[in-house]
Amino acid sequence: MKKRMMIMFVFYTIFLITNLYSQINCAKCGKRINNESYYEIQGKNYCEKCYKKYFATYCSLCGKEIKGRYIFDFWQNKYHEFHKEDHDFCEYCARMICDKVTKGGRTYQDGTHICNLCYKSSVQRESKANILMKEVLNELIWLGIKIDPENIELQLVDNAQLSQKAIDMKINSHHKGLTKYTAFENQKGDISLENFTIYIVIGMPELKFIEVIAHELMHVWQYQNSPLDNDLAFSEGSCNYAAYLVLKKYKNKHYYKSNKEKSKMIDFLIMNLETNTDKIYGDGFRRVKELVEKHRKKYWLDHLKNFRNFP
Ligand SMILES: [Zn+2]
Ligand SMILES: [Zn+2]
Ligand SMILES: [Zn+2]
Ligand SMILES: [Zn+2]
Repeated sequence: MKKRMMIMFVFYTIFLITNLYSQINCAKCGKRINNESYYEIQGKNYCEKCYKKYFATYCSLCGKEIKGRYIFDFWQNKYHEFHKEDHDFCEYCARMICDKVTKGGRTYQDGTHICNLCYKSSVQRESKANILMKEVLNELIWLGIKIDPENIELQLVDNAQLSQKAIDMKINSHHKGLTKYTAFENQKGDISLENFTIYIVIGMPELKFIEVIAHELMHVWQYQNSPLDNDLAFSEGSCNYAAYLVLKKYKNKHYYKSNKEKSKMIDFLIMNLETNTDKIYGDGFRRVKELVEKHRKKYWLDHLKNFRNFP
């Protein structure tokens, strides 16, 4: 995942002036500034109190005032730029890992940094993963994406194991999941049995897991319904679009709606899908989204069943 952070500038020039002679009133509270320091911002004067309240930027990590450039994340946290020298960013929410913002965090054996807010809901066991997969299968049915749940096996693996699976399957993957399809033919040469193994990276926060499993289940749907060699952008774009639809459904569930952190995490994941700059995953997603907005969901699914590429 690309780190979502922005470097911001304080866009106005601030002058700290020591007032000795003139009689000046604060442009905000109107109080007369007598024999004290005041701030001039874009031609207006402000008392110290108003400056601190309305204009000063404070660091979410150390609490001190920030002057000049700072890092600004999706969650509205601002950090002194220099903190990035000795703090890691969470792989899943892109916040800077520290006690104050994320209640700390940890590093998995494969080097993944995760904050404690994300770790709290992380999927570490296959029993939990299977429950979530069933939930997502049901959400997909509600969306008109019916998947035969027979012969789907889920395995949690670490990043290194996932990369090895990708190499074994001769595919290029920089994703957090993979679906392996195996078909068995009978003596007549007809497919008699289909097997699906979904590999998912262990230890992702629940909502990221939900996004990835929805993506992988859409691959299963395509194996069960579509031409096997369909266009990569059409196929991956459709998987990301299914994940997007599932995330939107979760956003409307009472439990997620009423939890500020979880609700915002869904927004963050959706934003990442929407702004992904990858030619296959990002452009593919946007083309599918446009297609559905123009022709509705059924048209997209019918087209995916019968054609290899976008209309
Ligand atoms: Zn004032
Ligand atoms: Zn700081
Ligand atoms: Zn996090
Ligand atoms: Zn995929």
